[in-house]
Amino acid sequence: MKQVYLRVALDTPLDSTFDYRWAAQEEGGAVADLPQVGQLVALPFGRQEVVGLIMDVVSETQVPPAKLRDAIAVRHELPAMNKEWLALCQFAAEYYQRPIGEVAVPALPKNLKAIKTVSLQRAIKKLAKLPEQADVSPLGEPQLNPEQQAAVDAVANAEGYAPHLLFGVTGSGKTEVYLQTATKILAKNPDAQILILVPEINLTPQLESHIRARFPGLMLSTLHSGMAEGERMLHWLAAHTGRARIVLGTRLAMMASLPRLKLIIIDEEHDPSYKQQEGLRYSARDLAVWRARQLSIPILLGSATPSLESWQGAQTGRYRLLELRERAVQHAVLPIIRIINLEREKPSEGLTQRLIGAIKLRLEKGEQSLLFLNRRGYAPVLACDACGWISNCTRCTAHLVLHKGDHRLRCHHCGLEQRIPRSCPTCGNIDLQPLGRGTQRMEESLALLFPEARVFRIDADSTRLKGSAAAAFERVHAGEVDILIGTQMVAKGHDFKRLTLVAALNPDAALFSQDYRASERLFAQLMQVAGRAGRAAQKEGGNASEVLVQTRYPDHPLYHALMSHNYPDFAKDLLDERQQAHMPPFMYQALLRAEARELETAIAFLKEAALCTEHQGIMINDPIPMTMTRVANVDRAQLLVESVSRPALQAFVKAWIADLRAMKSRVRWSVEIDPVDI
Ligand code: ADP
Ligand code: ZN
Ligand code: ZN
Repeated sequence: MKQVYLRVALDTPLDSTFDYRWAAQEEGGAVADLPQVGQLVALPFGRQEVVGLIMDVVSETQVPPAKLRDAIAVRHELPAMNKEWLALCQFAAEYYQRPIGEVAVPALPKNLKAIKTVSLQRAIKKLAKLPEQADVSPLGEPQLNPEQQAAVDAVANAEGYAPHLLFGVTGSGKTEVYLQTATKILAKNPDAQILILVPEINLTPQLESHIRARFPGLMLSTLHSGMAEGERMLHWLAAHTGRARIVLGTRLAMMASLPRLKLIIIDEEHDPSYKQQEGLRYSARDLAVWRARQLSIPILLGSATPSLESWQGAQTGRYRLLELRERAVQHAVLPIIRIINLEREKPSEGLTQRLIGAIKLRLEKGEQSLLFLNRRGYAPVLACDACGWISNCTRCTAHLVLHKGDHRLRCHHCGLEQRIPRSCPTCGNIDLQPLGRGTQRMEESLALLFPEARVFRIDADSTRLKGSAAAAFERVHAGEVDILIGTQMVAKGHDFKRLTLVAALNPDAALFSQDYRASERLFAQLMQVAGRAGRAAQKEGGNASEVLVQTRYPDHPLYHALMSHNYPDFAKDLLDERQQAHMPPFMYQALLRAEARELETAIAFLKEAALCTEHQGIMINDPIPMTMTRVANVDRAQLLVESVSRPALQAFVKAWIADLRAMKSRVRWSVEIDPVDI
């Protein structure tokens, strides 16, 4: 017997790793079954049995023998995670200032961490039964246009770490660039794995079917949060064993174990969903870039409206810029974007006469219209004219939203629900008025206005059931819908062929948001939704497709940039502004959040936190309440710290967290690196 100690990462908020004893069997003088770094192991933890990840196997430990416990069983049936994957977790843990266990263990599928190994055994068997595929050749590749070809060549022929930003207008054929780059990488390296990240798989099932049709001989894995655990286990294992050659997934797929990864593609790289907004608040895009560098492989970031961070990277030469200036389909042209001044043309029921006329025209021609309104529900608030009562959530700094269909007032932040009151709770007035307009109300108005049309709504409420979003989009693709009304869900990468009119009903709110990134996001959203129009070839003598934006601020620079489809100028203006104001990407930030029953308690904690560490080269701002201060009866405040130097900020935050822990405050707090919502 040979005694070793396993240094194991567990998913706990407690720091560092835990040591366990392991007695390895010896056979004929050689040590058999010695556990390896990167293997999973079942362990006693408190009174429970848990599964952890072996980070190190050592011959000595500081833990006193009385406190040491024996590990139970090593999962030899699963090949160990490789050292590159462990290094990725280690990097993420250090960068985001979390214990390694909180990064590495949650990145594994749940069933892998079950005490019983049935699910793992089943997945291993299932995978073994799938036939080996040898044929990586693609089917039916269209001829690329010169710009697409140049992009493919640049990425596929690059040596080593090579980050590329593919800046291509909507409909310019970015997908085709992804697929043919994949072809070339696979041709060079027949057992390569390729990771393709998308913001949302459920909303854009088209990409998955494109990949399957293009590479019928390749195993494709998908990884996203909507999968059943058993399924997820199988797909993850296919990736981990190198069987899956293309892995398509959302941000969580970035942490998949991919031993033969040779190319990373991130579609819609600007999309906010690449940032995890709870727990480990990581940016999948940033980590993917790190991973590409670590592995010395190319990475391709694609977007029609790149994030300012990536755009800046391309300007300074950190990323190589690849451009697609035109739509790929012959005779498909970018839609004409027009502004409707709401100060001059008063809308009724949220629609101006010009917009109504434009919809009528589409109905006559049998074409589709898409109306974009980023607000679900019937009306954002219910109010009493007589006494001024409005439907506030009693637990949040927010209004209760009117949902007429199911007779409810509902808080979109904490989930509080009430029946719609028959009369005003304060004065008894029975004539309560819905204020403002959500998608449900627009749907109702449209149905009244266009009784002959098939009006259809897509938002989080209409697609709550599993599979219903896909079915809804299928109806639009099949031409069973004349007027589509929806939230940002409808802006995603759909290729609706009969859509020639897009309208943004009320985008102004984001112009004056507290969040300095709001206009960057609004621009991206409007470009994206506008990009749904005119994707098919324009008919002989037909009208160009059209985008109408209803606004009270027709002279706002954002709308001007939008009208000329001019992302580069818009980005330049924003970057100049950010530089002058010392904001990201010219500044690095970390945010300390605190939560308490009383706002004063949270603020007092932050004030103390601001005092406690030395900070050269770090700017510590004043603590402030969060814009939405109260959620579910908890008050929230924040403290922003900034530096022009990333390493300086990293070093500071590390020491600071140790100090904050030492404060032993009862306030709940967390630190976020590179926050986006502040
Ligand atoms: P993007 O992702 O840039 O918005 P897509 O990849 O959806 O654009 O492509 C838009 C349309 O152009 C799709 O219908 C696609 O099939 C078509 N397309 C792409 N590349 C070519 C090409 N080289 N020749 C003809 N059609 C193309
Ligand atoms: Zn009242
Ligand atoms: Zn609430």
